[in-house]
Amino acid sequence: MSGEANPFESLQSQIDEAAVHLDVGDDVIERLKHPERVLETNLTIERDDGNLERFKAFRSQFNGDRGPYKGGIRYHPQVSRDEVKALSGWMVYKCATVGIPYGGGKGGIIIDPDEYSEAELERVTRAFAKELRPMIGVDRDIPAPDVNTGQREMNWIKDTYETLENTTEPGVITGKNIASGGSEGRVEATGRSTVIAAREAFDYLGKDLEGATVAVQGYGNAGWIAAKLIDEMGATVVAASDSSGGIYNPDGFDPVAAKDHKNETGSIVGYEECETEVTNEDILTMDVDLLIPAALENAIDADLAEEVTADVISEAANGPLTPEADAILEDKDVFVIPDILANAGGVTVSYFEWVQNRQRFHWTEERVNAELEELIVNAFDALVETLEAHDLDNPRTAAYVVAIGRVANAFEEAGSFP
Ligand code: GLU
Repeated sequence: MSGEANPFESLQSQIDEAAVHLDVGDDVIERLKHPERVLETNLTIERDDGNLERFKAFRSQFNGDRGPYKGGIRYHPQVSRDEVKALSGWMVYKCATVGIPYGGGKGGIIIDPDEYSEAELERVTRAFAKELRPMIGVDRDIPAPDVNTGQREMNWIKDTYETLENTTEPGVITGKNIASGGSEGRVEATGRSTVIAAREAFDYLGKDLEGATVAVQGYGNAGWIAAKLIDEMGATVVAASDSSGGIYNPDGFDPVAAKDHKNETGSIVGYEECETEVTNEDILTMDVDLLIPAALENAIDADLAEEVTADVISEAANGPLTPEADAILEDKDVFVIPDILANAGGVTVSYFEWVQNRQRFHWTEERVNAELEELIVNAFDALVETLEAHDLDNPRTAAYVVAIGRVANAFEEAGSFP
């Protein structure tokens, strides 16, 4: 990660890029560029050795014009106030892009979870849940997993909330395991939308996905599932990386076996089907048809963008391109499916989970996947329609034109209090 671009400034410049194509007043655009509120809190927990340790944590509620705030909680040493603000804004425009009835929020704790025991992580998570309790709620703000959090953390937050509120309200949080009220298909949803969007883009560009070569940067939940599903669609995954390094096999490899290797050893590096080890930069600039960045923000900066040779990028990560990189790739005619569409499957199936929780009903995996497919394909079609209607070159700008228009419309129809 270059770390040069401030993600909050990136978000604001993305909004500005789109605003010139919209008939929305500058005063409304100004409102849509800043979070409504940000909680900053300090969590003090007892370590297993009896010492106390303090962790800084945030929750940003960016915009609630289209519905309750919605978005994940991330555990990472690089979490910062501006990062959380940016991620919460991207949630607003992501939910609007796919047309689900949510605003956007995001949370994070500055912590490296690898350094702590499960019991310590449970105490940190429950301490954060206690701080979040007054601001979250099934109709208020609904957290979910993000980088380094998953079902386990969501179950702890649900339990803490329900205990303190003396109620049962599984829809206060999504991404739970099935026994705690989770949805079928939620774990796979981010990777699934990343590849559905890629398939639609190949179709739109008249390119064949069958036999297309793919590189995946990041082999966490989003990255490895995307690799598995694109392989099932007939593409060939030739390279992948994780935080320890990258692997390459020009003939392709089995993404599931690579994941098994990572589960056993902690990294995909050393996986036997791939003799060649490559760097993170090699992965991002590799001569492939499709590149899937699935790690953190700012993975591709201007220098790397000059070297990118992929034809299509499907952003499984949030904010993987700096604005400069985005402009360079636009000039190079790389078709970039923006994060707010490509990875929107996660929050879309979170929405289905929330609907099921409210109905106290459980959908089949077939139903979840069919509804997800429909929403992502519709969102892609709306993006293409806007791209062509406004004669735009950048699919991200088209997505923001659609999304900002929807949020601004909700705000202008309802007016504001006071
Ligand atoms: N953290 C995911 C995202 O960035 C999912 C959020 C959610 O399910 O609410 O979209």
